[in-house]
Amino acid sequence: MPATDGDTIRETFLRFFERNGHRRIEGASLVPVGDPTLLFVNAGMAPLKKYFSGEKVPPAPDLCDVQGCVRTKDIDDVGDRHHITYFEMLGSWSIGHYFKERAVELAYALVTGDFGLDPRRLYVSVFGGDETLGLPADEESARAWERAGVPRDHIVALPAEDNFWGPAGQSGPCGPCTEVFLDTGEEFGPAYVPGGEFDTSRRYIEIWNAGVFMQFDKGLDGVLRPLPFTSVDTGSGLERLELALNGLDSVYDTSLFAPLVRTVQDVLGESGEVLHHHRVIADHLRAAVAIMSDGVRPGNEGRGYIPRRLIRKCVTLAMGRDRERFDVAPVVDAVVRSLGPVYPHLVAEQAAVTAAIIGERDEFGDTVRRGLDRLDRVVARHGRVSGADAFHLFATYGLPVEITRDLAAARGVSLDREEFDDALRRHRELSRGTRTDRRLRVDDVLPAAVASRPATEFLGHDTLSAEGTILTLFSGGTTVDAVAAGSDADLIVDRTPFYGEGGGQIGDRGTVRAVGRDEALGEISDTVVHAGGGYLHRVSVRTGVLRVGDTVSLTVDPCSRADTAANHTATHLLNAALRAVLGPHVRQAGSLVEPRRLRFDFTHPGPPAREELAAVERLVNDWILTDAPRRVEVMAPEEAKASGAVSLEGEDYGRAVRVLSFGDFSRELCGGTHVEHTSQLGSFRIVSEQSVASGVRRIVAVTRRCAVDHSLAQAAALSEVAGALRTSPKDVVPAVRRLVETARTPKAARDTATLANTVETVVNDVPVMLAQADGAVGGLRKEARRAAGERGRVVLLWTAAEEEKKTLVVGVPESLGDRLRADALVEGAIRRLGGGGGGNARIAQGGLTTAPTTDALIEIIAEAVAERSAG
Ligand code: ATP
Ligand code: MG
Repeated sequence: MPATDGDTIRETFLRFFERNGHRRIEGASLVPVGDPTLLFVNAGMAPLKKYFSGEKVPPAPDLCDVQGCVRTKDIDDVGDRHHITYFEMLGSWSIGHYFKERAVELAYALVTGDFGLDPRRLYVSVFGGDETLGLPADEESARAWERAGVPRDHIVALPAEDNFWGPAGQSGPCGPCTEVFLDTGEEFGPAYVPGGEFDTSRRYIEIWNAGVFMQFDKGLDGVLRPLPFTSVDTGSGLERLELALNGLDSVYDTSLFAPLVRTVQDVLGESGEVLHHHRVIADHLRAAVAIMSDGVRPGNEGRGYIPRRLIRKCVTLAMGRDRERFDVAPVVDAVVRSLGPVYPHLVAEQAAVTAAIIGERDEFGDTVRRGLDRLDRVVARHGRVSGADAFHLFATYGLPVEITRDLAAARGVSLDREEFDDALRRHRELSRGTRTDRRLRVDDVLPAAVASRPATEFLGHDTLSAEGTILTLFSGGTTVDAVAAGSDADLIVDRTPFYGEGGGQIGDRGTVRAVGRDEALGEISDTVVHAGGGYLHRVSVRTGVLRVGDTVSLTVDPCSRADTAANHTATHLLNAALRAVLGPHVRQAGSLVEPRRLRFDFTHPGPPAREELAAVERLVNDWILTDAPRRVEVMAPEEAKASGAVSLEGEDYGRAVRVLSFGDFSRELCGGTHVEHTSQLGSFRIVSEQSVASGVRRIVAVTRRCAVDHSLAQAAALSEVAGALRTSPKDVVPAVRRLVETARTPKAARDTATLANTVETVVNDVPVMLAQADGAVGGLRKEARRAAGERGRVVLLWTAAEEEKKTLVVGVPESLGDRLRADALVEGAIRRLGGGGGGNARIAQGGLTTAPTTDALIEIIAEAVAERSAG
């Protein structure tokens, strides 16, 4: 087969199976429907499970399709030659129809026939038997391959760990399998000799699991029971097939990936050799886009944790290249251009997904920045960064040790790398030792000792202080029994009033005190919820000792909580007001709620008009004034949706959800903390509005004291500007307009004045010219000087524009000597018409409150001449 692409491979596969009696069906969403044992669909058969167990009847006995898959267990292998997180699996099935013989026959015909792979480069593996399972080697499959044309020395028997497949999730159909491998050549390792090692990590790459022969149903009790009928399940990775068919080194060189990798290099400004992190970023963003296009949003629990982890990894990798806020939009765009033609929902979701990725990137950036603050405190206090400190920065803020080291160096202190490695090793051993759940494998940040704790009971919706028992203390990368004054630790209690960071709201701070031992006191600076549901309180012990088993009283800092709650409620009101003013297309794309401000990202095609923003601000403030009480209903998710509560599509809220409403204007699913009455927000001010990505806007806003501070700061700035312009705040706008106009007018134009209604006359022997003038003051002065000198006459020019003050410029020629002074004439005009000004004998100017007339000015000149003569 000549060099080929994804489209051709998909079609070749599907047509081959259609030709052989299979019905083509649609692939399913990445989010499994009604299968709580699985985070994401990880194989083509996952959505079809019920056909194999007989619970449902398939549309035809033999099927084929293309199914998107996400394999979180492969995340650590990403960047090698053949592992990616999201891939497309080409699958074929026979449900209760044909079995091993026919499956092998079809597989061999496709790879050597339609795909045209060289049979000499193909190897196959079969199940070698397993004692604990009580199953013999799969000779039937081995003989089927021989009959199809594969020589014995290309048939490799492998143990159950490799060739007994399934189930997908914790229970369901499973059985022995047989796989097809491609020999990628000597440069990737020694050749396989029968009985020797079969290196499937480098040289021999698996391209097709050509038959899982489903014979058993594994129960949740781990027991294998025979299925009522047998089935065949096959699956082949599209990207690996392209690698094989085009003779490429890795899946990252395929037409499906190369453009993404290039785009990543572009946005990082790193052309040239493709490096490991380019592959990882391309993979992780591609997977995040695929997952999020199916409605999942980054979060701390369950499904949401996967895109969060993928995106955060990209951010830290980019940060390692000094690109903290690297531009993700072009990469998302490349993913959508590559997959969109086949999966149109990616196109439809692009704007919202881009926004959510950017939101996550920025939120994580904020977390990292908090990590930096902490680093500064550590450096200030200890003058060094210990391995335990570095580990804590890594574990709590996700700050990679390389970055911590560079930052420490920039502060002139060193980091003990060995100590860090020790802490990390201890942590890894701990996590491995107690790992029970697949999900823990993707969580490399906190030890399983913490994760395996029962979920903490959260009391903080109703109270700010409560008593609990310390279950775990985690310090320096390991669990400890006690923590003494001067040390930091993460503390888990059975119940807590502290809100753990989530849903955009940051974690609570406050204090912890041992009941009955008042001297044992710690300060809690942050609270996060671990994926397992345990609340981690970051505590610095101030005095005494805190011990596991202690009953402690936990008190949330009421000020910071009240401000945070106000900002969270304000976020809901803002969301509702934006929809009311801009339209129902507005969708939340991310948010951050802190005590001092709130940040809200939403979809909207362009910048909202100033009046629209003002309307939003006014509406939120009107709602605040209604003093609407908070109402909370706990209900089933379907019920909540039916009742019209706003939610982020696909957000995983668990079984029961909290629906929070204020008045009839705001109703949202939310687990955060809120005020009891809207009036507790005081007032609401928008601080800024800007674009974050195409189609996505960001508003930063404040409430309560911060809103007052914001208004006062604005008023102070206005007064200062007015002062600098020598005008009053209410006149600032026209004054600034004039200033801008002057700055914009080219100097040449500023130097000229056009005259109108010129009057030439003689007042008591003095020749005079009066004219209305149009132009800037500089132009008027120049003209007055020129006209005065030219013919030895007094010149008076005044602006006719409808401004509050009329400018009068007076020029008096040298020839008049002291008989008449320009400044005296301006003074005379001010006496009569009001205003201010001054100058010298030859040239003077004033701003007059009342518009002058020619007659009035002539009278003023007459008076002045008379005065002089008299004097
Ligand atoms: P490997 O051992 O190489 O990781 P596997 O045994 O986990 O593969 P299967 O579960 O048999 O793979 O999945 C069937 C097919 O899906 C594989 O033959 C391969 O073509 C493809 N595949 C599996 N995992 C990945 C991945 N992480 N990236 C790309 N393709 C994959
Ligand atoms: Mg396999």
